[in-house]
Amino acid sequence: MNQVPDILTIDLEEWFHGHNYLDCTPPSEWDSQESRVEQNSEKLLSLLDKYNVRATFFVLGWTADRHPELIKKIHDMGHEIACHSYAHPVLFEMTQQQFSDDVDRALEALSQAGIESVKGYRAPSFTMTPPVYCFRDVLLEKGFTYDCSTFPVKHPRYGQPNAPRKPFITDNGLAVVPMTTLRLLGMNFPFSGGGYMRLLPGFVQPILGKMAKRQGVPVITYLHPWEVDDKLPECGQGGILKFRSQGGQATTLPKLEKLLQRGDFRTMDEFVENYFSL
Ligand SMILES: [Zn+2]
Repeated sequence: MNQVPDILTIDLEEWFHGHNYLDCTPPSEWDSQESRVEQNSEKLLSLLDKYNVRATFFVLGWTADRHPELIKKIHDMGHEIACHSYAHPVLFEMTQQQFSDDVDRALEALSQAGIESVKGYRAPSFTMTPPVYCFRDVLLEKGFTYDCSTFPVKHPRYGQPNAPRKPFITDNGLAVVPMTTLRLLGMNFPFSGGGYMRLLPGFVQPILGKMAKRQGVPVITYLHPWEVDDKLPECGQGGILKFRSQGGQATTLPKLEKLLQRGDFRTMDEFVENYFSL
């Protein structure tokens, strides 16, 4: 296997789960919002099917509870199902017990959808930050083998610019796969997913991806189903928040298609198994 492959990851959640939406759609109102996850996931699934690419879906337990047939279908299509928490919390605002309870609830929801083997975890908004690194041991206790929740960049919520850029194993044995950055001029630059992918021109990611691979970093593309939605409901969000949540929405699928045409994709669990068996 190529030692620095491409990996496509999808955080499977509704449009209103993003932390940018907390003010206009608080959790108490989630069940009254329009669900868009199925139709948006179908767009991604058919594109993946067209190019015979398998991805890793980090599934929110809340969504698995309401759409178990969608999760089962994704699994049956050969994609990896991993965990994206149950209620989309900010991890560094939780106690260890609250975190443990949330993960248990998420695993139960995935189990109800027919998914028994779950190896990977991704924290909402990459909030597995230094004050809560001890939560990685909770993941190990529950049978996870890897965590994909570290973003070594400057960012007011989740940034950890001094965290390692390459995958590593914690002292207790959990594999940590940081999100992709390109090291340039003494700084780490993100480019391969979310708002970065939507707002940067389409030619940027292939070029920076090649450079990152030369630095020994796998290129992890990350998306959400709502990033391919051209009819997102209005909820009163405006200004810079709306731009960060929805800017470049129409460009996501064409950009993804180009990546799928050229890439050498693996699921995250395949990558982890291969990378650390060397
Ligand atoms: Zn999320």
